[in-house]
Amino acid sequence: MSVVAWIGLGAMGGRMSAHLAAAGQDVRGVDVVPALVDAAVAHGIVAAASVADAVRDADVVVLSLPKGEHVRQVLDGPDGAWAHARPGTLVLDTSTVDVATSRWCHEQSVARGHRFVDAPVSGGVSGAEAGTLTVMLGGETVDVADAALVVEPFAGSTIAVGPATHGIAAKLVNNMMLGIGMLAVSEGSQLARHLGLDPQAFWDVASVSSGDSWPLRTWYPVPGIVDSSPANRGFAPGFSTDLAEKDLSLAVTGADETGVHVPAARIVLEQLRALQAEGLGALDCTLVARFASPDGTLEGFDPSTDA
Ligand code: NAD
Repeated sequence: MSVVAWIGLGAMGGRMSAHLAAAGQDVRGVDVVPALVDAAVAHGIVAAASVADAVRDADVVVLSLPKGEHVRQVLDGPDGAWAHARPGTLVLDTSTVDVATSRWCHEQSVARGHRFVDAPVSGGVSGAEAGTLTVMLGGETVDVADAALVVEPFAGSTIAVGPATHGIAAKLVNNMMLGIGMLAVSEGSQLARHLGLDPQAFWDVASVSSGDSWPLRTWYPVPGIVDSSPANRGFAPGFSTDLAEKDLSLAVTGADETGVHVPAARIVLEQLRALQAEGLGALDCTLVARFASPDGTLEGFDPSTDA
């Protein structure tokens, strides 16, 4: 049995940490929101009073935090994990952060005598609940092998992507491609509709033709075609516009840093930000299909719905 310090017990972390506890690990959990700590305790996590308390006896520290700034704050400083963890502790970051933050985490962890693996996840809250997440690992080979054992209880697939930051880079590129694929389906669904096609007939064609894609089969933004589509439930998330905007903006930052041209990703980002500006950031990102509609109306979306 390992002692695991789990920092961040939100939508993802609460569920992932529960799988570790169910697998018999001694999990010490921390969150700044007391109600989330209480919920985690109900799933077998031991409440820790602070990051320092959680990491003190831990073999492994796992982070599931909103953004890079939170990751830096939790690791660094006199009250941070680095200062209180035992030498050689393995730190995993499952958060989606920018590549520069992940690189800094790797370099600084080693400088302070610890080990670090970037370990972002894909599969959403439902994958976290089911324990079927895809986990993308980046770091030293021996650390990645140890990390693969840690994540096993909540992973459906674990991929050793490569050295430091390659896990997070793969995650950001994947989500950029997802966003662009979603835009193709967004525009295709509306053009099909306004050319008078029956949506089911068109979907039947595209799903066995060269227009097929994961967003087509999973998120088609027309009610009544694909069971898992947010269009069937008033565009409740799924994958929220706010999270998609975050991931696309981190991918575009990576493109800016490397000089790669990503005009399609920039259009997706612009549309996600337009939804946020309307106060719709909490709704599903497939709501961008509104921007393809000639008059902005979208079947399945009621503009009077609270986001
Ligand atoms: P969330 O906001 O529900 O959870 C993050 C938790 O971190 C919150 O409960 C927050 O209170 C806590 N927190 C913030 N600062 C803290 C601190 N200093 N100390 C302790 N706790 C602190 O977010 P989430 O949806 O669980 O996502 C977590 C990470 O996983 C994000 O980086 C997100 O991008 C990524 N991710 C999310 C999904 C998804 O579908 N939700 C999918 C894949 C990856």
